[in-house]
Amino acid sequence: MIDLHLHSTFSDGTSTPSELVAHGISLGLRAVALTDHDTIDGVDELVSEAGRLSMDVLPGVELSAGICPLTKDHQQEVHILGYFPKWDEEIKRSLEPLKKVQKWREERNRAIVESMRGYHIPITYEELSQTAGTNNVGRPHFANWLIEHGYAHSVGEAFQQFLVPGAMTFKDRKTFDIAESIALIRQAKGVAVLAHPKALHIFSDADFEKFLKSMVDLGLEGIEVYCSVHLPNDIRRYERMAEKFSLIKTGGTDFHGKMKPDIRMGYGFGYTHVDDSVYDKLKARLDQNLK
Ligand code: AMP
Ligand code: ZN
Ligand code: FE
Ligand code: FE
Repeated sequence: MIDLHLHSTFSDGTSTPSELVAHGISLGLRAVALTDHDTIDGVDELVSEAGRLSMDVLPGVELSAGICPLTKDHQQEVHILGYFPKWDEEIKRSLEPLKKVQKWREERNRAIVESMRGYHIPITYEELSQTAGTNNVGRPHFANWLIEHGYAHSVGEAFQQFLVPGAMTFKDRKTFDIAESIALIRQAKGVAVLAHPKALHIFSDADFEKFLKSMVDLGLEGIEVYCSVHLPNDIRRYERMAEKFSLIKTGGTDFHGKMKPDIRMGYGFGYTHVDDSVYDKLKARLDQNLK
């Protein structure tokens, strides 16, 4: 069993990269990948013990690439996972453009704070990043703050009231688009993978294939077939799509620790299982990229 989609305290997860490694080992996983939102800052810690562990650790990232150009549904962002063949200075350097994304994120966060303060919600950016325990603050951290301070009862309510497009204090943030995201991953010798495709809510096969083809033309090499939100019939759908476009099938739970308490590492909501062979095939492609 493996899990190639994990979030840490470097984005909106609640375990440190070292804790994720220990957790994966305790579950007997063969491999894990760290895929924090738009940042690689946790990867040094993830790989610090690599080679001395009973489990492989794979450097990764999950890029937000804007709203889906097909559905234009403002609630459905395209997420692209990047997996990297090794962790050296050259690869890190080619990922430096991510610093821009972090700047755009911080600008967005400060704009949300200002907007909330305009509604007499006494939030400050400093307090928020302190309680979030990361300088890579995301909307889920805002949701937690709002709950703790009595402005919402649940994460869902906090999002609907304050944090989704159209809500009172929503602010957009700039990101790389799909083409730029795939190019960035490939430039770092990585493999670009479409994350949790079901979340795009593209229900017609013809539409999905059109969208997938456009990404494959831009250099997409994989699709996340196995993930927490996919039921068996979804898995069959995306396996079929992977085969049709000769894509690598990947999988992971999107574990966020206490931020998404119903998702367990390795198991998702209980029925997710990502086979070791998925890792072997991805690893083979990554090794090829080094030649
Ligand atoms: P951000 O990257 O800061 O814009 O926040 C995006 C994250 O917020 C996503 O990865 C989701 O985990 C979470 N999110 C987005 N929309 C919702 C929603 N309607 N309810 C709960 N969580 C959401
Ligand atoms: Zn997240
Ligand atoms: Fe995602
Ligand atoms: Fe994720």
